[in-house]
Amino acid sequence: MTLTLPDGRDVRPGKILCIGRNYAAHVAEMGDVSEAEPVVFLKPTTALVADGGEVVLPRQSEDVHHELELVAVVGTPGRHIDEASALGHVAAYALGLDLTARDVQAQAKSKKGPWSIAKGFDTFAPLGPLTDAAEVPDPQALEIALAIDGHERQRGTTDHMVFSVARIVSFLSSVFTLEPGDLIYTGTPEGVGPVRDGERLHATGTGLAPLTVTARRERAS
Ligand code: MN
Repeated sequence: MTLTLPDGRDVRPGKILCIGRNYAAHVAEMGDVSEAEPVVFLKPTTALVADGGEVVLPRQSEDVHHELELVAVVGTPGRHIDEASALGHVAAYALGLDLTARDVQAQAKSKKGPWSIAKGFDTFAPLGPLTDAAEVPDPQALEIALAIDGHERQRGTTDHMVFSVARIVSFLSSVFTLEPGDLIYTGTPEGVGPVRDGERLHATGTGLAPLTVTARRERAS
């Protein structure tokens, strides 16, 4: 996928960085505990699907969940970015979905193994159209919502994040060089649940372009 940043640059996302357990109510619904530092995992770029696209529910899972998330798009590269200047490295924001094969993830958790498969299937990272960061004065003051076939499933406000976007950008840059086009999925509020064949997922957020995708079950070939 190629993204056009608000300044006109065309970039190919090099990495998809994701934060887990970033809203207390979601941490509680998963039976997890909050961490002192952000929980980080990655998705491959083959997980990306654009607005209007199709999410494929893979054969390996009977329980794919939606996680509605605010996505920050890196515009200015950096390493060891301090929190005070972190938002200056974000070129755009978007709505995204961190799709998760919950049954596969539960198996991985029980074996204390990584989440790469549960989080990384093709089409498991829908990404909405980009909104210029200049039009988002405070990323911690956004209300985001997800409806499935017209029924609201998730609603949250980004001021409930455990780790702010600035803190996340700073933290991630202490490990990974952030590059233009890198995508940061910032965690989901409560209300995660299953996605079924044929359902239409519609995400909205304050001042953000909406995101719509349709789910389709993968058939045996
Ligand atoms: Mn997530």
